[in-house]
Amino acid sequence: MKETLEKYQKKRNFKKTLEPIGKVQKSRKKRVFVIQHHWARKEHYDLRLEWNGVLKSFAVPKGLSFSTHEKRLAILVEDHPIAYRNFEGVIPKGEYGGGTVMIYDEGYWEPVSKEVDFSSHELKFILFGRRYKGMWTLVPFKENYWLLIKEKDEFANMKTPRFLFSVRTGRTKKEISEKLETSYSKGIVEGISISNPDKTVFSHPALAKLDLVKYYQKVFLRMFPYLENRLVSTVRCPDGVSFYKKHFESTHKGMKKVLLRKDSEKRRDYYYIRNIEGVISEVQMNGYEFHLWGSRVKRMNHPDIMVFDLDPDEGLSLQKVRDGVRDLKSILDQLGLVSFLKTSGGKGYHVVVPFTSFSSWKSFTDFSYKVAKLMESKWPLKYTTQMSKKMRKGKIFVDWMRNKKGSTSVAPYSVRLKKKASVSMPISWRELDKVKPDGIGISEALERLKRRDPWEMFFFIHQ
Ligand code: MN
Repeated sequence: MKETLEKYQKKRNFKKTLEPIGKVQKSRKKRVFVIQHHWARKEHYDLRLEWNGVLKSFAVPKGLSFSTHEKRLAILVEDHPIAYRNFEGVIPKGEYGGGTVMIYDEGYWEPVSKEVDFSSHELKFILFGRRYKGMWTLVPFKENYWLLIKEKDEFANMKTPRFLFSVRTGRTKKEISEKLETSYSKGIVEGISISNPDKTVFSHPALAKLDLVKYYQKVFLRMFPYLENRLVSTVRCPDGVSFYKKHFESTHKGMKKVLLRKDSEKRRDYYYIRNIEGVISEVQMNGYEFHLWGSRVKRMNHPDIMVFDLDPDEGLSLQKVRDGVRDLKSILDQLGLVSFLKTSGGKGYHVVVPFTSFSSWKSFTDFSYKVAKLMESKWPLKYTTQMSKKMRKGKIFVDWMRNKKGSTSVAPYSVRLKKKASVSMPISWRELDKVKPDGIGISEALERLKRRDPWEMFFFIHQ
């Protein structure tokens, strides 16, 4: 049966709610699941299982139980878009499902039953979540009404835990609902003590270290999908002089190290960030700017995020930079590639292209070079593929070089250690002419979180 999201979309007014509009995706072999704790008119949990490009969704009033003796009611509701798995926030009062939504668990799932139809067959399945693991069965007993029962396995009859905070962001219901001044404002975050919280990081606008902590806490939910499983390097600025930091330190919390040999270097410990604690502990160490690899840790040699940085020669007009971005997009469009736009926080814009993955770094780098070269040969007076200041005279450098193994580019939502504390902010293509490359600072970035995510579809593009 072909899945649609018509019901889902009809029930919601997307001018009022920040839930994703979404669309039906291609089906994938590895399927995600999410459990959302939802304080609507009636408190309940939503169990959503990816199937045929949508999330098959059940409202489970009492949530999942590990007891094999308890049958939990599960009501089949409308299919949700897969992008819904990233939704944590508040649905406005009076809107459909109005109330707070917290990501309670997430991971992958696999059906055990041969027949999966979500209408008349019972479904045995395994959850590989962070909090919920093991086998359950969904048994239909009348239209849309099912029973959810734990099967016997090594997780059976464990005490069913109750978590008061989000598995993704560590936020409580209260923190999600009110963007509240939390324990962060006292300089303490889950056991990480922020030293020198009042230390000035930027003078115009005046921002202290603690303001940076609060900023990253607030953008974490939007930022984390980009940080997740990607090696990171940060720009630290402990005392007015900034430097790149890319190696792991054992004092780090919320991070995981990866032993890696890069080119001729000795093997060194690189690392990636696992949760909010990791981000905060970077800020604690005066690391304010986050830069990411183009591949994920588990597929280190199969890069999947390509970044072009349009870097103008000094004195070149903003109009020319914007034209450059449009020229680049036109080439990517002709290649049939969906691309996304963000401000660099500096002089240029970044055009970012998500891929399913390349077979090697070499083919990835070659491809990005060819795109840049195409611009250079089509418009030799406007663009160059050469970094040198001499070659760049009066032109824009189409920087393809950050698509080499081990190179990094600044993460979406990262603050830049520039004078104005600008942010590298995802914007929509329509905004190109309205938003300057360094035009979005911390406070505007936070304002923009209340709006729809212009990169909502980023992880759902298969190309
Ligand atoms: Mn619900």
